[in-house]
Amino acid sequence: MKMNKEEIVEKILELKQKRNAVILAHNYQLGEIQDIADYIGDSLGLSQKAAQVEAKVIVFCGVHFMAETAAILAPDKTVLIPDKNAGCPMAEMITAEEMREWKKNYPGRKVVCYVNTTAEVKAECDICCTSSNASRVVESLEEEEILFAPDKNLASFISRTSKKRIIPWDGYCYVHNNIHANHITLKKNLHPDAEVWVHPECRPEVIDLADKVFSTGQMIKEARITEKNEIIIGTEAGIIYRLQKENPSKKFYSAKDLALCSNMKKINLKKVLRSLEQMVHRVEVPAEIREKALGSIQRMINI
Ligand code: SF4
Repeated sequence: MKMNKEEIVEKILELKQKRNAVILAHNYQLGEIQDIADYIGDSLGLSQKAAQVEAKVIVFCGVHFMAETAAILAPDKTVLIPDKNAGCPMAEMITAEEMREWKKNYPGRKVVCYVNTTAEVKAECDICCTSSNASRVVESLEEEEILFAPDKNLASFISRTSKKRIIPWDGYCYVHNNIHANHITLKKNLHPDAEVWVHPECRPEVIDLADKVFSTGQMIKEARITEKNEIIIGTEAGIIYRLQKENPSKKFYSAKDLALCSNMKKINLKKVLRSLEQMVHRVEVPAEIREKALGSIQRMINI
């Protein structure tokens, strides 16, 4: 039977209650998913939420490594991802095997992993970081040389304020890496009074043009308190939906109109409904990997 959008949403809400489930959605998800989510946030914030909520089932609307992190932090819960092919190309740029080989070339160095990595890779590193705490995590280590994976742009951003030698893996987010300096200049010409906020996964020349460099979580918070009425946003364009919805009197312009992550957009209402109907697709992390990966995440949380 073909259902319209309202009927799908109604069925989702009904099943959510029946299954004792919550819906977590990343800031880059489609507006229709953000509208039905119990919580919207960044990857780590959502995983921590997964561990705190009472619900037994977590429907994680994001990409695979995020659902995996939720499964690591909430092993007693059933974590579902509505589309099993929603992966993160950046997280897939380094495998556990490649990480082990890399470490062999740099004996004695500590390894910092961005949270955008698979559980197997997290299990191989010393400590995780997010885009908002990466500098603090790096500075918390005594070593002067640090291996950083997988995002070379985030590594370069940390190097701006650190005296340590950061040795980057050659990975990047194709969405942020495709925002170029000329996109910022063009938008700045169109909106000369706007402030420019960009994500630290952007290229160094884009960071150079920004007024502020923020994680998505910081963008959401700052948008509520800034006195600026117009802001150019240099990150995945899905966040504009939430920024605009929460701050209707302000104007947010995407630095690049098609800065969209196709993986983030794989999840839609129909897939969320199927997920709850059929309890698919379960995201599980083998105990041995979970334990090691949890150590890396917890060392970060302790900072
Ligand atoms: S926006 Fe970039 S980092 Fe985020 S899921 Fe997509 S490819 Fe990965």
